Amino acid sequence: MQKENGTLIIATGNAHKLQEIAEIFNDYKVLSQKQMGFDEDVEETGKTFMENALIKAHAASKALGLPVLADDSGICVDALNGAPGIFSARYCGKHGDDKGNRQLLLKNLEGKENRKAHFTCAVALVYPDGKEVMAEGNTYGSILWKEDGNGGFGYDPIFFSDDLQKSFGIASAEEKNSVSHRFRALQALLAKME
Ligand code: IMP
Repeated sequence: MQKENGTLIIATGNAHKLQEIAEIFNDYKVLSQKQMGFDEDVEETGKTFMENALIKAHAASKALGLPVLADDSGICVDALNGAPGIFSARYCGKHGDDKGNRQLLLKNLEGKENRKAHFTCAVALVYPDGKEVMAEGNTYGSILWKEDGNGGFGYDPIFFSDDLQKSFGIASAEEKNSVSHRFRALQALLAKME
């Protein structure tokens, strides 16, 4: 795919995501946009995961003159009509407050019987000439009543995976990567490139 001397440029500042993508694309040298010299916080003004992924990839690709892959992801809870959705990173009001986000989600689900949820990931690969390749991936499960494990990041400790039959918080990185929304989105993207 966007093999610039075996290098894959990712439009993210999130070290966990970068690590996950690096584990999936282990044939590539995965670098963040910051490592390539682009360190702008692009405003995510989209109304969907895909719109936000495209905004981030276009901004970095334009600035660097190279193909850039961006993702946007989050968790959607059935009983909350898909919330937190695109607001997953700042659900509790403070961007990146993983603990606060988890606590608010558990509180908002108090008394609700339906705990079904899924993570979604939209990935967009944008070339300097403006060409776009897009794909999406999902992983399904339910929200636990309390945290189980402290692995991963974000909502992982309260997400019970249907595929793994355990929480993402206690799953190994390898296990999570084999079923994750990001893995599935990236696989779908690769298939589209071929
Ligand atoms: P983004 O950085 O705008 O894509 O926001 C993603 C947010 O969704 C993160 O801050 C997490 O709260 C949540 N999220 C996305 N993917 C995962 C995951 O694999 N595990 C746990 N939380 C995730």
